[in-house]
Amino acid sequence: MPPREDAILSEKPRPSSVARLRRWALWLSSVPLLGVVAAFGIAPDTSTEHVTLEQIVQQIPLPSASAVTPTQPEQFWREERIQRGDTVGSILARLQVDDPDALAYLRSAKGVRSLYQLVPGRTLRAVTTDEGQLVTLRYLHADGTELVVRRQGEAFVTTEEQVRTERQLVMTSGEIETSLFAATDRVGLSDSVAIELADIFSSEVDFHRDLRPGDRFSVVYEALYSDGEFIRTGRIVAAEFTNDGRVYRAVFFQDALGRGGFYTPDGKNLRKAFLRSPLEFSRISSGFSTARFHPVLQTWRAHKGVDYAAPVGTHVRATAGGTVEFVGTQGGYGKAVILRHPNGRSTLYGHLSGFAKGLHAGRRVEQGELVGYVGMTGLATGPHLHYEFRIDGVHQNPLRAVLPPGPAVTRELMPSFHEASAPLVERLNLLRNIDLAMRDDAAN
Ligand SMILES: [Zn+2]
Repeated sequence: MPPREDAILSEKPRPSSVARLRRWALWLSSVPLLGVVAAFGIAPDTSTEHVTLEQIVQQIPLPSASAVTPTQPEQFWREERIQRGDTVGSILARLQVDDPDALAYLRSAKGVRSLYQLVPGRTLRAVTTDEGQLVTLRYLHADGTELVVRRQGEAFVTTEEQVRTERQLVMTSGEIETSLFAATDRVGLSDSVAIELADIFSSEVDFHRDLRPGDRFSVVYEALYSDGEFIRTGRIVAAEFTNDGRVYRAVFFQDALGRGGFYTPDGKNLRKAFLRSPLEFSRISSGFSTARFHPVLQTWRAHKGVDYAAPVGTHVRATAGGTVEFVGTQGGYGKAVILRHPNGRSTLYGHLSGFAKGLHAGRRVEQGELVGYVGMTGLATGPHLHYEFRIDGVHQNPLRAVLPPGPAVTRELMPSFHEASAPLVERLNLLRNIDLAMRDDAAN
């Protein structure tokens, strides 16, 4: 278990204060990103002291399929959700486009290629005449631009247009039973949000070996919408992670120069000089090593390193910024990389199957940068990474090492930090209370 001083915040939740609240109400329909007022309501049920609840974890309002709206007397506006296995032709058929000229144009025109990406869940909108002739076709991309195909007389013109997007804050929380991805899948979080969550707390929690059944997370993240259509998720703005009973919290803060980072609610930097895990967190590596919460081949012992079981090819990253001291084969370590870091620290990564392209002695690497791939070269009985951490040449247990923190929020920036973080902390508190109430509900 990591040392106590690593705890950023260790509060014990007080279930008694919310135990009476069986059900909660939470409305998230249009919460502007910079809004300070939390948009939620708790409606007490007068007869029983209970509270009515409607929880919306991820709100993706979509019009019913094939909504038909007359635009001009002979024109119809329709929209269709893209489904798995769709082709442009099959969607156009559902949009009731019956127009060989349009089909021929869409097949050959260079500007419409992005249409063929057909991301399931995204929508295609069309305006047609009552005879099925295509007038306009619109397809929204993940970057917020829209592909627009318009009929002009007998021909078609394609343009890319910037559409207006709104940001909404989405809040959700979950509990880990087997793996982080199993838990995030269950509550409908995208992989990008799950990976960002692991990344935010990567200096505190080793997501390959520290996770325990019963660990919990809450995230507040941005989602981009255009005209009510979900485009994509954005960044996490606040998060809470409870690991083995200890609670870590993070809020995003951007200084006047636009440099953003995650801090504890009292302004400490969450990014430390070293990452807890040298393995890149991904669906594959996490599934392999945390499926049964037995990620370890051996713990810290005589061989003075820590082993991470992971599939061959898993990305191995520099746990801290530094300089490459050695790249090559070294006895029982097999293919290995040694990095030199500030303050007499160095790290070693062994049994690799290969090295990052262009890695050579003397090169500078950044924290988190790819240095190689998991393998089983040297004296290894199975694919795993052997990781060592030394201070002034003396082996240290990396799982126990107290890591130097990154720069905290400066005194000058504290007022604006508190102003920005207070509503985010409020949301985390709200999520925690809902969580406790729902768990209490489930227990009864
Ligand atoms: Zn080892």
